[in-house]
Amino acid sequence: MYQVVIIGAGPVGGRLATELASRGVSTLMVEEHAEIGRPFQCAGLVNPPAMERVNLQETILQNVDGALIHSPSGIMVPVGKDGHTRTHVVCRKRFDQGVVAQAMEAGAHLWLMSKPIEAEVKEDYVELKIEREGEIIDIQCDLLIGADGAHSWTRRHFKMGRPKEMMIGFQADVSGLSGKDNWLEMYTGRDVAPGLFAWVIPTGDNTHRIGVWSRPQDLEGRSMEQCYDALIQHPLWKERFADVKEIARYCGPVPCGVIKKPFKNRVMVIGDAAGMAKPTTGGGIGPGFRQVDAIIENLVKAIEKGRLRSSDLATVCKPFKAFRKEQDRARALRDLIVTIPDDEELDSHFRMFNRPEILDLINLEGDIEHPVPLGMTLLRRVPEFRKLAVKAGFKLLFA
Ligand SMILES: Cc1cc2nc3c(=O)[nH]c(=O)nc-3n(C[C@H](O)[C@H](O)[C@H](O)COP(=O)(O)OP(=O)(O)OC[C@H]3O[C@@H](n4cnc5c(N)ncnc54)[C@H](O)[C@@H]3O)c2cc1C
Repeated sequence: MYQVVIIGAGPVGGRLATELASRGVSTLMVEEHAEIGRPFQCAGLVNPPAMERVNLQETILQNVDGALIHSPSGIMVPVGKDGHTRTHVVCRKRFDQGVVAQAMEAGAHLWLMSKPIEAEVKEDYVELKIEREGEIIDIQCDLLIGADGAHSWTRRHFKMGRPKEMMIGFQADVSGLSGKDNWLEMYTGRDVAPGLFAWVIPTGDNTHRIGVWSRPQDLEGRSMEQCYDALIQHPLWKERFADVKEIARYCGPVPCGVIKKPFKNRVMVIGDAAGMAKPTTGGGIGPGFRQVDAIIENLVKAIEKGRLRSSDLATVCKPFKAFRKEQDRARALRDLIVTIPDDEELDSHFRMFNRPEILDLINLEGDIEHPVPLGMTLLRRVPEFRKLAVKAGFKLLFA
């Protein structure tokens, strides 16, 4: 009998387990794989506030000071400043392992090679059947939390709906690419990343992660591998990628849009399972950590008082509404500025971004964590964006 069972020992499950266990809540993490942090599907970007929460600086492979953003026709907009770290690139395996180790140090238990095969909510507890290394074990808990990623078993088992958007990310680890060690690159255009962008992220020791993400409806029947190939072989960039040697490639889902009701009697979901990744960058680690921070105090009180009915968890999860609203606003602006425009319009946006006064503004107000204020300032201040500003007004009003 545990007070809380968390399905999934990823970064968000591990972080939540740390916070619960360090407050004296008996917690079990159930992880289907034999090893934490494997297989991973991630570019490894962890923003400074998220890193400060876990202090796992030893997992940093590279600090990143800025981004060189390329338009479809090759106009380049540099955002950032040397010597001012904007984000960290981590070894995801060591990062996840570090987060889960902190949970265990705080007193949480971990079962590897284990997954739920049945869960039933009773009046006073949740009854679970866990398959652990081939053996079926019955356990009970007061509260079941799904931190089991984009295709969450918990979310599906309890029919909790689907995140608003499910993007696809594809990535290759490569060697043989040169460039500025502390700047990442982003590429746009229908050929290489319809509706979103592709990235090249330095990971130290002359290695890089080259990736691309997109919405399925924008792919028009193409595969993510074809988009990746289009980047590598693009007439404008093929020389840059000529000596690339692939070490590994992987593909995964990115759920963006917190589900409407991430809770039921004695059950809730969090992190990717709840659809917490950012529609503007696909980042899910920082948002998942923020979600944990936002609920932890009230969640522990609810567990201690045994108030874990749907209506109690609705109160605990109230902050998620603000996250959903933030995602909706960010998505609305992303759609207007990046996703809907064709390549020609995107190029004209880049020409505007590249003006010195606009670049100053972007560097001053640009915060990848909170892109809406910068988006709004651009729409207000740049005369050429006025037409978009009217559309944005409507979109944001109804977002
Ligand atoms: C190509 C790509 C690049 C990305 N790049 C970034 C990035 O740079 N920065 C960033 O912040 N985010 C990035 N993301 C998103 C990021 O990977 C996720 O948002 C993040 O991992 C979410 O953490 P989580 O703990 O909620 O879920 P996950 O990391 O998915 O962890 C879920 C855990 O649950 C386990 N699990 C699943 N089902 C079961 C089950 N039935 N039983 C037991 N265990 C189970 C899994 O094995 C896993 O360990 C990227 C995603 C993709 C696809």
